[in-house]
Amino acid sequence: MPELRQNIITGDWVVIAPERAKRPKDFIIPRGVKVSDEESCPFCVDSEGFKSNKKYLKSESENIYVIENRYPAFVEDESKKSVRSFYPEDGFYRARASVGDHEVVVVKDHNVDLLTFSQSLLDELFETIRERYIWIKEHEKVVSIMPIYNHGPEAGASIRHPHAQIFGSGIVANTIGREIDGAEKYFGINGACVYCDLVKHELKEKTRVIAEEDGFVAIEFYASRFPFETWILPKDHQSQFELTSKKSMVAFSKVVHQTMEMLRRTIDNISLNFYIHTLPVIHENSASYHWHMEIVPRVSTWGGFELGSEIIINVMSPEEAAHYLKEKKT
Ligand SMILES: [Zn+2]
Ligand SMILES: [Zn+2]
Ligand SMILES: [Zn+2]
Repeated sequence: MPELRQNIITGDWVVIAPERAKRPKDFIIPRGVKVSDEESCPFCVDSEGFKSNKKYLKSESENIYVIENRYPAFVEDESKKSVRSFYPEDGFYRARASVGDHEVVVVKDHNVDLLTFSQSLLDELFETIRERYIWIKEHEKVVSIMPIYNHGPEAGASIRHPHAQIFGSGIVANTIGREIDGAEKYFGINGACVYCDLVKHELKEKTRVIAEEDGFVAIEFYASRFPFETWILPKDHQSQFELTSKKSMVAFSKVVHQTMEMLRRTIDNISLNFYIHTLPVIHENSASYHWHMEIVPRVSTWGGFELGSEIIINVMSPEEAAHYLKEKKT
């Protein structure tokens, strides 16, 4: 069973999940070698892997199916173990059972990828994620849910077959905790949601806006950590992703589609991650927090200074990135 352990100095959490790699040699990943042929792909619907996965099936629609992750970072708690913290080694450290849910949202077609998904497939993907989100939210031990997507080897996609993942955890993610604290502080001083203010400012400034659709905007983030780091936000205040209406979700998906198209045309073979930051499910609503998607192209790797300081040296300004992306807009 994976275990959450707290950094005694910073308070950040990590998941120790020893099942995922057992021996040191398992960490040696031959670069560029990825499961790509349909015969050995565990996610293709006709494969042996899929047949053995069928018992983990959670839902299915025309082009997408959802299964439980076989190697979850957060597991459904069958033992009814307490989710409260425990203090091992004579009470010195703090840890918790890593309970929750971890699902894989698989696009049935092996031969498409995130950057070339059709508009309707993207619509179906986000609608599926929203439905599963609402389902996972009912899990009494889940505190926070994060949908993510890894595209390409540099983004940690270990299986090439297109798939998103949804992590439902018993703790608030370190990043979300920091964002909530910052947003609350801003609200305390300015009496407004920092994300709403940011959207208003960027729409006025225009230089970093790359796409806009009914109710949503995509911007190159002012303090980008990565070249072409893109944020997509609802223009009006909305703290919870799952409350987005079907119609709004289509507008959101259109902005994602346009952004992927621009990124694909700008950088060859780009690897990227996206993740959705939204209010932890333990809260009903928030005037200061505002859901959004962050898209992080993995065109640069972090060196010792970045890892050691979390002060990221980004070699391309977001203004320049916006300029390049908009040149490729159709
Ligand atoms: Zn496949
Ligand atoms: Zn807001
Ligand atoms: Zn965020």
